[in-house]
Amino acid sequence: MNTPKKPAEIADDVVVMLKYVLTVDGEEVDSADEKDPIAFLQGSGEIIPGLEKALYGMKIGQSKKVTVAPAEGYGDHEPEAMMSVPRSEFPEDIPMEVGIELDVRDEDDEVMSATIVDVTKDEIKLDFNHPLAGKTLHFDITVVDLREATEEELEHGHVHGDDDDEYEDEEEE
Ligand code: ZN
Repeated sequence: MNTPKKPAEIADDVVVMLKYVLTVDGEEVDSADEKDPIAFLQGSGEIIPGLEKALYGMKIGQSKKVTVAPAEGYGDHEPEAMMSVPRSEFPEDIPMEVGIELDVRDEDDEVMSATIVDVTKDEIKLDFNHPLAGKTLHFDITVVDLREATEEELEHGHVHGDDDDEYEDEEEE
């Protein structure tokens, strides 16, 4: 067996397998463990800029705590991205409660995610900001593994799955 040489540390065009816990406002909101780490192509913008920046030079097995401000995370919370919609425009069988996430189609038929932030008798207030917009993100990360990217991955600018085709995207190019 010919084992390919692993990259010594995280640099552009290296595929990174990362274990992490994301804490926001003192609450754990997301995580990936070493058995099912996230994988991405460093330097391609697949992950938020503040986290990507902090990874350069890290080696397999290294851990780090990274704090990411909104500007380098999911952006500021934009008040203009909130919208009130007459209740009559929603199907009656959808529960209308604060906190529920909906996919809404705009005039250009693009699907956007929104969160219900207020419900009145006549109106539903939707927030189209990312749920983590305006939040400072606290990551607890460990580099699980590194490998060289394939030529195809470099061409596409993102990582492909190793042993499943979950990430395959033939329609691209
Ligand atoms: Zn691809």
